[in-house]
Amino acid sequence: MARLLLGKEVNASLNEEIKERAEKLKGKGITPKLGIIRIGEREDDISYERGAVKRCETLGVEVEKALLLKNAEESEVLSTIDKMNRDPKIHGILLLRPLPKHLNEERIVNAVAVEKDVDGITDLSMAGVFMGKKTGFAPCTPSACIRILEHYGIDCTGKKAVVIGRSLVVGKPVAMMLLQKNATVTICHTRTKELPAVVQEADIVVVAAGKEGAVGAEYLRKGQIVLDVGIHVNEAGKLCGDVKFDEAEEIVEAITPVPGGVGGVTTSILVSHVVESAERIQLADRQRAK
Ligand code: NAD
Repeated sequence: MARLLLGKEVNASLNEEIKERAEKLKGKGITPKLGIIRIGEREDDISYERGAVKRCETLGVEVEKALLLKNAEESEVLSTIDKMNRDPKIHGILLLRPLPKHLNEERIVNAVAVEKDVDGITDLSMAGVFMGKKTGFAPCTPSACIRILEHYGIDCTGKKAVVIGRSLVVGKPVAMMLLQKNATVTICHTRTKELPAVVQEADIVVVAAGKEGAVGAEYLRKGQIVLDVGIHVNEAGKLCGDVKFDEAEEIVEAITPVPGGVGGVTTSILVSHVVESAERIQLADRQRAK
């Protein structure tokens, strides 16, 4: 039976670390604060927002919300972002997406100041991930995958990592982050030939295909570490991932379950980014004052 890589175990240490760092900042008169911008009333956005607010509150991070109407004009969205960019009390901005169709997503996303881009959505943050530089922040889900590997002491050096999925939110950045950790990385997608054979070669498999049950026994072998990023609601109304969990857990060495794996860590990573942003801003202020 596979070992379970559990989000709650990762969060136990990650959350302690966040709390300590937030306390330390408070000792210097700084309370880390996340600004959330939501446009409209999408159920997914509201539920993600609720989770983020709760996690912030338990970890000593304040939240300020800007709620705009579904039909908000682009100028209003841009001025809301600008206000948060300029507010020295706000250290991170979470813009809930996807945006309503009438808005120019690329223009709006890139209006977020890169130093406050704690969700890693701007082009500059993504450039940082690809260059291995701390320009902005990496997106939270790939960061959660890396944190899980680190927490369980899984060394990527020299390992073969296969990433299924090439989206900008998960696949591409997680591949770059695994490369940064000295893995030999293959990125697979819908046009990849003989995918099961390619995945079988991997020591570490990150599955972000966005297809329920896309990876089953024929893709897997003994000894593999599997991170399942997918989130779906199956026919029975239960949460499940991209990996056929029942088949995988009989074969592989370790796997993240869905629910209970990557998803829960993602929110804590977001909060850790807010704290890190506050630390970076405080450090920059101190250096300027010297
Ligand atoms: P996406 O649809 O943007 O990208 C999916 C990628 O997988 C594409 O590049 C596509 O080429 C590839 N793909 C699809 N089917 C495939 C197949 N059968 N074989 C090989 N490649 C295939 O999805 P995304 O935004 O990257 O998200 C992926 C999954 O992760 C979704 O289920 C999403 O809900 C979930 N997700 C989870 C979190 C989290 O915090 N756990 C965060 C974001 C996304």
